[in-house]
Amino acid sequence: MRTKSVGKKKINIVTLGCSKNVYDSEVLMGQLQANGKEVVHEDKGDIVVINTCGFIDNAKEESINTILEYVEAKNRGEVEQVFVTGCLSERYKPDLIREIPDVDQYFGTRDLPLLLKHLGADYKHELVGERMVTTPRHYAYLKISEGCDRPCSFCAIPLMRGKNISTPIENLVIEAEKLAKKGVKELILIAQDLTYYGLDLYKKRALGDLLLRLVTVEGIEWIRLHYAFPTGFPEDVLEIIKNEPKVCNYIDIPLQHINSDLLKAMKRGTSHEKTNALLAKFRQMVPDMAIRTTLIVGFPGETEEKFQEMKEWVREQRFDRLGCFTYSHEENTTAYVLKDDVPQEVKEARVEEIMELQSQISWEKNQERIGKTYRCIFDRKEGNYFVGRTEFDSPDVDNTVLVPAENTYLSIGEFADIKITSAEEFDLYGELV
Ligand code: SF4
Repeated sequence: MRTKSVGKKKINIVTLGCSKNVYDSEVLMGQLQANGKEVVHEDKGDIVVINTCGFIDNAKEESINTILEYVEAKNRGEVEQVFVTGCLSERYKPDLIREIPDVDQYFGTRDLPLLLKHLGADYKHELVGERMVTTPRHYAYLKISEGCDRPCSFCAIPLMRGKNISTPIENLVIEAEKLAKKGVKELILIAQDLTYYGLDLYKKRALGDLLLRLVTVEGIEWIRLHYAFPTGFPEDVLEIIKNEPKVCNYIDIPLQHINSDLLKAMKRGTSHEKTNALLAKFRQMVPDMAIRTTLIVGFPGETEEKFQEMKEWVREQRFDRLGCFTYSHEENTTAYVLKDDVPQEVKEARVEEIMELQSQISWEKNQERIGKTYRCIFDRKEGNYFVGRTEFDSPDVDNTVLVPAENTYLSIGEFADIKITSAEEFDLYGELV
């Protein structure tokens, strides 16, 4: 595969997959910019770098289609070079080289210096926390660790991201300070397993220590926690959520299922009883905390009875936010030896059943917010509405607060107190107080 000179070519970064990929693309763009390269995000460029996702079927398909799209554009002479990085490339490099040879080069998830070299740039170690933020300027993701040590049997992420490596607290504080100087007010903490943070570096769970440092960063007003893990949950974090106003009363904790046999087969290290005990602890310590979770239906051995157990549990627990996905039979995961015995149409029907139930729960919970006033941050204006969020809502995945624009003016990226006047399943309507 020939490599042409990069020089002053415009480099277009295309990001697929999760917020961790968004973060990695931002770091890559920060490095390129520091090397004097012209870099854009999902725009027109002479050279394209596709940061792929290789998690489950749908995501893999989207990544492959995007690669093919840009290879066709290259064959039409619209782009000069196509580079591919990220999880799909890490996981399937030999197959991709064979199947789509027109890509100039494939890189793994830990090949940033090599990728930069191919783009005519040098990796700059001194750029701690420097990146080109692609989210609206008032919020940004902060990836606190890479990789995962957990053995979840359905999950291919450790195959693509390797073992857990925590970023030192000092570096994360420097990064947060730089982001705050750029106008970031909301930090969204992400990792594969947020609650594992520090075990490698400090030989203890140090998410609490990190939070107590981040709340001192001037300009940061909201800190949000995503991707917590149920087993070994550090309870000091609950105290901090309760006592630190900057730490949102919000936790995202994928629980995946509730049936003890399936949790065992999933190698989640927990059970029905332990999960409920943890949720009860959450509600006892931080009563108005919004709990977001993610569930998998159709895991091998999920009988109708086991599914109904989970559905009844969702009805009882009344999560504030919930996402549900069909099990994807991923090669090289430990669950791959199990028979993928739940038909696809049954998996999809079960997702619908859960999400129908959750829509009703979300509607009922939103009715309880009518008449109350919440501090909201506004992300954008859409049609006749300003679109914002309460501290109980993460961008792109949770509820929004809609304020009519015809008789109100709200600044994007600023906070405002909003009184809720009406509510639907996933949207609240309100007026400026
Ligand atoms: S915690 Fe489990 S599901 Fe999450 S990334 Fe790690 S192995 Fe995958």
